[in-house]
Amino acid sequence: MGKLLIVGTVAFDAIETPFGKTDKILGGAATFIGLAAAQFTLESAIVSIVGGDFPQAYLDLLKNKGIDISGIEIVKNGKTFFWKGKYHNDLNSRDTLITDLNVLANFNPKVPSNFKNADVLMLGNLHPKVQLSVIEQMEVRPKLIVLDTMNFWMDNTLPELKEVIRLTDVMTINDEEARQLTKEYSLVKAAQKIHTMGPKYVVIKKGEHGALLFHKDEVFFAPALPLEEVFDPTGAGDTFAGGFVGYLAETENISFNNLRNAVIHGSNLASFCVEKFGTERMKELSKAEVENRLDQFKQLTQFDIELQ
Ligand code: AMP
Repeated sequence: MGKLLIVGTVAFDAIETPFGKTDKILGGAATFIGLAAAQFTLESAIVSIVGGDFPQAYLDLLKNKGIDISGIEIVKNGKTFFWKGKYHNDLNSRDTLITDLNVLANFNPKVPSNFKNADVLMLGNLHPKVQLSVIEQMEVRPKLIVLDTMNFWMDNTLPELKEVIRLTDVMTINDEEARQLTKEYSLVKAAQKIHTMGPKYVVIKKGEHGALLFHKDEVFFAPALPLEEVFDPTGAGDTFAGGFVGYLAETENISFNNLRNAVIHGSNLASFCVEKFGTERMKELSKAEVENRLDQFKQLTQFDIELQ
């Protein structure tokens, strides 16, 4: 059983989809990553920050999933990070309407001492300066450092982000952001460019069109499960990342073959996340449901073909 350290936002989200809208609900990259990783047998901890307005019940939810939350700082007189987004009719694209950094603007992360030797470090979406500080606090270099980010940080903090990219083993990024970062339309060329920036492995997430894993000249593709109900895609990318690192931390095997399995586990969990608003579906997810759908994944992707 491995140790997984997660850094990322723990947040309030307000979401609008063609099917409805919410007021402030529980969100944040680290929240979704933590809930997905909690499906695996591992030790996990979150490093993040929230304000005094953040409900204790949300913190308890994470704690009750077995996540160490001692690295989530609470600033009593501060306000929690807030994000508001609105999805277009195809649900594949969205507009960010509000990003209020609030307490995140002046965050100095502190890694709990018992996680300074984590096997896997998941740098979820937040300020690259914070991601860098977490890397620097590790006593031993983790076996795998995985980075996720988004256009907001490319637009506002590109030099710092590039420094973090240089230090990571795996970068997960969505297709649009990979194009923005590399100025390449072809995702194959984009992945090659990202390799030259540091990461040996690049995962490009394509929403309902699945995910691609690149390693040198090798490519692996995992489809997204065709779902009847897609309600709210928020957090799908983070849930994918949480499943990916959760599986790798549990199996303690970072071979390319095992990374392929990790991509399948990530896609599988992301398929649940989109079925309800925010974290609703991930909160209640059972092991049996996860295994059942993994089986559907296998059926979907297996074929017998005779090669001459
Ligand atoms: P995803 O849909 O996987 O891209 O992630 C959505 C989550 O990212 C939401 O729960 C937001 O709280 C969080 N989020 C949105 N913008 C940012 C940002 N600039 N930095 C960190 N987290 C963010």
